[in-house]
Amino acid sequence: MKSRREIIQLMPFAAAAVLAACGGKPADTASSPAPAPAAEPTPPAPAPVPPEPAVDTSTFPMLDEADPVAAALGYVADSARVDTGKFPNFVAGSQCANCNLYSGAAGEAAGPCSLFTGKKVSATGWCGSYVKKIA
Ligand code: SF4
Repeated sequence: MKSRREIIQLMPFAAAAVLAACGGKPADTASSPAPAPAAEPTPPAPAPVPPEPAVDTSTFPMLDEADPVAAALGYVADSARVDTGKFPNFVAGSQCANCNLYSGAAGEAAGPCSLFTGKKVSATGWCGSYVKKIA
């Protein structure tokens, strides 16, 4: 039978033997820092979005007053023909050329309107969706 002192003296060797049997290594916390956590994988960069091709609006056809949406909005190619009975909010001088939805060049007879994609409206036209352009 071993004495208590002998058992205490053998404990470090017993611990090392247990760790070796388990395949582990005794920790050397005094000389080596803890391993850094694995870095998160970087997600792949998104594919670049190609620029939108320029649209040649000069080839757009003119908006027909008989177009169902145009007719519903009371579009007329000449604002002098606005049905003021149906559109009492019409203000004299309002026309596509000074509407916020119009993107035609100044001085052009017609230009695109964001309300009627792919069509040109008359610069002197008007419809019930008119929004005064802010200077
Ligand atoms: S929204 Fe403006 S630019 Fe378009 S048709 Fe109506 S008044 Fe003209």
